[in-house]
Amino acid sequence: MKETPLIEVKGLRKSFAVQKGWLGAKKYLNAVDGISFAIRKGETFSLVGESGCGKSTTGRLVTRLLKPGGGEVYFNGQDITGLNDNQMRPIRKEMQMVFQDPYASLNPRMKVKDIVAEPLLIHTKLSPKERDKLARELLETVGLSGLHAERFAHEFSGGQRQRIGIARALSVRPSLIVADEPVSALDVSIQSQVLNLLQDLQEQYGLTYLFISHDLSVVEHISDRIGVMYLGSLVETADKDSLYDRPLHPYTQALLSSVPVPDPSAKRERIILKGDIPSPVDPPSGCRFHTRCPACMEVCKQIAPVFQEIEPGHQVACHLYDEEVMKQAH
Ligand code: SF4
Repeated sequence: MKETPLIEVKGLRKSFAVQKGWLGAKKYLNAVDGISFAIRKGETFSLVGESGCGKSTTGRLVTRLLKPGGGEVYFNGQDITGLNDNQMRPIRKEMQMVFQDPYASLNPRMKVKDIVAEPLLIHTKLSPKERDKLARELLETVGLSGLHAERFAHEFSGGQRQRIGIARALSVRPSLIVADEPVSALDVSIQSQVLNLLQDLQEQYGLTYLFISHDLSVVEHISDRIGVMYLGSLVETADKDSLYDRPLHPYTQALLSSVPVPDPSAKRERIILKGDIPSPVDPPSGCRFHTRCPACMEVCKQIAPVFQEIEPGHQVACHLYDEEVMKQAH
C-alpha cells in the first residue's frame, strides 16, 4: 500500500493585494500560483529559486502561518487548509520552523533556556523545572552546552544562534521542520556544520524537512528531492541525482551552471540569464520564463507549458519536452 505523505499540497495559491499609486486600482501579486508536491515521511524536499519566487511563502502556507488563497494542504492525510487557530494548535506542534536570520529570530531579552523552552510552554504541561531540564538537554543535542542556558542570544556567534533556533524547533519533537534559508546568513565553513547537524538530527529523530534555499549548492547534500520554483510556479521537480545529473528545465540548467563542481575537468559551462526576474504583479504571458530563456520559441510567448512527468519522479514545465508542441513548432 502507498504510504501517506507527511505533507501534500495540491494547487496551492496565495496572492497579496498591492496598491498602485494614490488612486490606482488594487493589483495582486501572485506569490504562489497553483503548485502541487508531496513530501514523504523522513525525506528532505528542497524548494529552490531566486529571491521572490514564492518559496518562503510556500513554507508559511504549508505550516499554515499564512492562510492559502486556494488549493489544499494535507498533513499526514488530514486536510488542514481551512482549520482555524484552535484546530491548528495540535498540528502546529508537529510543524516547526527554523528561520534564515538567527539574529532576528531570537528574542534578545530572553535567556537561551527560555527561548528553547518557549514552544514547550505553549504546547505542553511540563513544569518549569522539567522545561528547564529539557532545554539544557536540547542545547547539548545541538552541540552547545547546558552551561550556555543562562546566557542571552547576543553572546553567541551566528552558527551558535542557529543551533539555538534548531534546539527550539526540536523541543516539541515535531515531525516536520520547515527550514527557510537556515544557513544563508552564515559563513561557508559554518554552513556545512549546521547542515551536518540537521542531517544528524534527521536520522536521530526521524524528521521530515522542507528546506528552502536560493542556492542549489547548499541543498545538494541534504536533499532527497528538489523542486525548482520560478515566479510562483514549480518548473521542475526530481530526485537529487536526476536533477543534478540531468536538469531538464532551462532555468534549472542556468541555476546549476553556477554551482561549483569539485572536479575542474567536469566544469559546467556557465549560463548567464538575461534580464531581471519580471514582476509577479504583472508576469509574462505564456511560459513565465520566456523573457529570460535561452531556448525560447514563439509558442512559449503564447502558451503556458504543462507541468508533466517526463520520466518516473521527474516533472518539468517546458514545451521542449512536449512532443505535440514540438511537432507543431517545426
Ligand atoms: Fe524556455 Fe519555452 Fe521551455 Fe519556457 S517553455 S522554459 S520559454 S523553452
